[in-house]
Amino acid sequence: MATRLKTAILGGTFNPVHMGHLGIAEEVLQSQGLDRVLFVPAGVPPWKAGRGDLASAEDRLHMVALALEGNPGFGVTDLELRREGPSYTWDTVSFLMEAHPDTDFSFLLGMDAIAGIRSWHRWESLLSKISFWVMTRPDTPFETLERVLPEYVPAGDRFLYPGRPEIRRISVSPLAVSATEIRRRISEGRSVTGLVPEAVCDYIRDRGLYCHAC
Ligand code: ATP
Repeated sequence: MATRLKTAILGGTFNPVHMGHLGIAEEVLQSQGLDRVLFVPAGVPPWKAGRGDLASAEDRLHMVALALEGNPGFGVTDLELRREGPSYTWDTVSFLMEAHPDTDFSFLLGMDAIAGIRSWHRWESLLSKISFWVMTRPDTPFETLERVLPEYVPAGDRFLYPGRPEIRRISVSPLAVSATEIRRRISEGRSVTGLVPEAVCDYIRDRGLYCHAC
């Protein structure tokens, strides 16, 4: 029997992708014995694109591709960026599962991101379809999961609900970096060396991204 591939889907705005993303992806890849972490940059409604400090879909995709270059354990897809209209995780997960029946997927997200799960499109169906792996994050309490999904029964770092795949809490080494902080630093003319991969740093500078005054 052919072995099944194990892939974790990592969705996010990636505005821009940073060392925090790469660090957690690498850590989860190793600790959970995955074949691949698939980065899925989120689409953004056209009326929001190019406004404020949100880089265009092309720029965000390009930065992720630069950051992942040379790492066979990581991949990126423009699935959500190509889609017309609102881009729901439900659609992304359903599409990937249908397109890759030989793969076991899990959905990877930070503790801050699970906090809003109850407002996601078809959230209960989504939790019934795919295992969620929630990574600890320095600025978000460890117990957020229990508070947000009290109907789940904790069993160590696994959270169970009859008839649904488990939710897993994964402790990752704290890396107190966020895209918000990186954008702030750039807009203040401060360096982001070490916070984003060098190729991404060069791309941001060449394209003048996030820098309103320079
Ligand atoms: P922003 O500051 O703009 O909200 P972000 O740094 O949180 O952005 P996202 O693109 O929203 O980046 O992140 C994608 C996913 O990675 C989310 O699920 C987020 O919770 C998680 N994530 C990002 N940075 C970290 C980190 N340092 N530690 C753990 N998880 C993280």
